[in-house]
Amino acid sequence: MADYHVIARNQEECASDANYVHVTAIETRNGPLDDEVWTAAEVCQAIAHGDLFYVQSRDILQKASLRCVVCPGCSQVRTLESGSMLAALDIHKLPPI
Ligand SMILES: [Zn+2]
Repeated sequence: MADYHVIARNQEECASDANYVHVTAIETRNGPLDDEVWTAAEVCQAIAHGDLFYVQSRDILQKASLRCVVCPGCSQVRTLESGSMLAALDIHKLPPI
């Protein structure tokens, strides 16, 4: 089991409902020269095996863990949520990969 700091994401609009987006990939900072890109499916699998992926805010010293969820807009695609209402911890507001 491992903890991963998520620093960037790629996402696309949900084709069924424009209020939702699908996170398609994330990038984690594992070390100064060791960034890694994961697909959403790889992250869901890692979470299921006990790994932790988190978004961190430098300003408020808080973390939010990623959850693997089925998109409420189309009920078909598995996407990632950080489960926080705070913009600083919102995975959708991270920079693109
Ligand atoms: Zn969707």
